[in-house]
Amino acid sequence: MNIKEIDNTYIAHTYGRFPVHLVTGKGSVACDENGKEYIDLGTGIGVNLFGYCDETWQQAVKEQLGYIQHTSNLYYTGPCANLAKLLCEKTGMKKVFFCNSGAEANECAIKAARRYGQLHKGEGNYYIVTLENSFHGRTLTTLAATGQDHFHELFQPLTPGFVHAKPDDADSVRKLVEEYPCCAIMIECVQGEGGVHALKQEFIDEIKKIAQGHELLVICDEVQTGNGRTGALYSCMHYGLQPDIMTTAKGIGGGLPIGITMLGDKVQDIFKPGDNGSTFGGNPIACAGALANLKRLDDELMESVKAKSDHARARLMACEEVESLDGLGMMIGIKPKKAKNSDIAMKCLEKGVLVLTAGNNMVRLLPALNIDEKTLDKGISILIETLREEA
Ligand SMILES: *Cc1c(COP(=O)(O)O)cnc(C)c1O
Repeated sequence: MNIKEIDNTYIAHTYGRFPVHLVTGKGSVACDENGKEYIDLGTGIGVNLFGYCDETWQQAVKEQLGYIQHTSNLYYTGPCANLAKLLCEKTGMKKVFFCNSGAEANECAIKAARRYGQLHKGEGNYYIVTLENSFHGRTLTTLAATGQDHFHELFQPLTPGFVHAKPDDADSVRKLVEEYPCCAIMIECVQGEGGVHALKQEFIDEIKKIAQGHELLVICDEVQTGNGRTGALYSCMHYGLQPDIMTTAKGIGGGLPIGITMLGDKVQDIFKPGDNGSTFGGNPIACAGALANLKRLDDELMESVKAKSDHARARLMACEEVESLDGLGMMIGIKPKKAKNSDIAMKCLEKGVLVLTAGNNMVRLLPALNIDEKTLDKGISILIETLREEA
């Protein structure tokens, strides 16, 4: 049996995979079992922040592998402490909890918000307003937080306590916080899986006011939007929003599993020893790699992310088969005029370009932040050619 056959036989069918077996990668180019190369504009869903086998990240990981690979959270280790310090310095958040995935980071955010509601607003104030078309993870609780009905149907009953407002509609948020006893509003400033949609500044300004008026925490899910992806360290920074809780994962690990929940002023002391935990949380290898990545996310890099995004967007906007563009920075959502996003992704794959899809028939690009202009340009050219052929 080849790898595809073994996989299909022995791995649960939770993924609809493309018919390609990737074996190696360097920078923004992946290579399959037959030696065919692919320009990767998806980076494993925004995870390979600096591409495949990035040398700086690899160096940090390899070095840590020679010191200590894991110990329990009963003992102190350096990489997680230093990563937490740099995260707080760069974001103004006060404390950090480490786990292993975006969903888990959101679980911790939800726990913190519920605890805050209990302590400061009284029992029963546990509702959290999230948005339609949001995506917050696959655990039962983060699925309940996710504002997409089709994710809810299969696994009833889900965790109670989530209500969904309409994105960019402050009145629908207001209505829900008046109707339900809430503790928090949770948003992705740029919705990812749900359709690569950058929320409007006015909407986020209203969310701030509503949260203030009702003593609600604001939680920003920066799992996909974070770590330089949008041209700012975290996407809430574009909007002048300082959240009470911020979560991230995906790109900061550069390919190793890590989830991060950052706690602001109001909730920094919400957890006591034993209140939450994770065996692998703060793993020295994952944290050493993440720290090396975070150190590189400076103003100069953010400028280059914006410049590359502007260039790619200008080229895509000029294509007559593009209905509209959305997203922010190197989180690019493309709405084709006629073509189906999944057909585009399949045809691009055949032509050697990896792209992602998202809700609302969007084609989604999450290129490596350090992709070189030539490779990006070539990938965009092939995408544009495909959009025309599929029209
Ligand atoms: C991917 C994603 C998650 C879930 O992260 P996992 O690591 O898959 O658990 C949560 N929120 C957002 C916004 C995401 O894009």
